[in-house]
Amino acid sequence: MMYDLVIVGAGPAGMTSAIYSARQKLKTLIISKDFGGQMAQKAVEIENYPGFEKITGFDLISKMENQVKNVDVVREKVIEVKKENDIFFLKTEGDKVFQSKVVIIATGAEPRRLNVLGEVNYLGRGVSYCSTCDGPLFKNKEVAIIGGGDAGFETAIFMKNYASKIYILEQEESVKASIDNQKKASGIEVITSARLKEIKGDNFVNQIVFELSGKEKTLDVKGVFIQAGYVPETSFPGDLVELNEKKEIIVNFETFETKTKGLFAVGDVNCGKVKQIVVACGQGATAVIHGYKYI
Ligand SMILES: Cc1cc2nc3c(=O)[nH]c(=O)nc-3n(C[C@H](O)[C@H](O)[C@H](O)COP(=O)(O)OP(=O)(O)OC[C@H]3O[C@@H](n4cnc5c(N)ncnc54)[C@H](O)[C@@H]3O)c2cc1C
Repeated sequence: MMYDLVIVGAGPAGMTSAIYSARQKLKTLIISKDFGGQMAQKAVEIENYPGFEKITGFDLISKMENQVKNVDVVREKVIEVKKENDIFFLKTEGDKVFQSKVVIIATGAEPRRLNVLGEVNYLGRGVSYCSTCDGPLFKNKEVAIIGGGDAGFETAIFMKNYASKIYILEQEESVKASIDNQKKASGIEVITSARLKEIKGDNFVNQIVFELSGKEKTLDVKGVFIQAGYVPETSFPGDLVELNEKKEIIVNFETFETKTKGLFAVGDVNCGKVKQIVVACGQGATAVIHGYKYI
């Protein structure tokens, strides 16, 4: 089917693009694996989105989703984008093909895998990247959080609602989380200079092995939450876009257009340095206005 504008990804950048595109009366489609993106992983409240002093990721997602009207929605993964004679062709994992005059890539980022032994084997059986999704499964159990940045600390603070004991392992000599988050993390045991080596168990996780100052140590935990940063999802546009060394899409910062006319990239997926909800929304709005002018 032919559209004026197709958006790939329904995080805050994609949903804002959809709201703006529908208001411009463009025939719009949003294709996304899910609705909400990283906000769905926001275990504690968001305190820096204007208009809401405090709001959970889930509440903000549903408010944005309710505002997306007069837009077709397909819940699938896009695996390829091509351009022929000024028309883009988008192919999904389910082998559907959609055509559009303008495409906005808003595919954000996914949790970084550590590639340690046991990580894949125990995924869903003790290993998780999302405490909001899986936290309640660890009621009265001991858990380890891998990563001492804000995401790791926020996960730990959220897990205080459930876990009997919480460890944070950080591979550097000190943690990077804000002082505010560190203050909220009282009662949590932080182990620095600790490099995770293996996740062990039987049917479910029951131990992690890590290296501390050259010595191998273990902790008996039932849950491992990996919070080691995010990698942009830029595998599918191929040579229609140029990537930087972090595999982020390089864009013109006035229009958010990529090197290909009519192809835009907004939010965490592009090379912008500030990765925040309000920034992603602003870029989505800007790209649609320029996409509209392009059509
Ligand atoms: C734990 C955590 C806490 C955070 N806290 C805050 C905060 O307090 N305040 C703040 O401003 N920001 C916060 N952030 C950052 C904020 O969530 C991101 O900057 C924002 O979500 C980026 O939005 P986005 O739309 O660019 O991408 P994302 O939110 O990553 O959304 C991308 C969407 O694209 C979809 N997708 C990906 N690939 C494909 C594909 N090939 N085909 C179809 N769909 C695809 C995904 O399923 C997803 O729906 C936090 C992030 C995390 C992880």
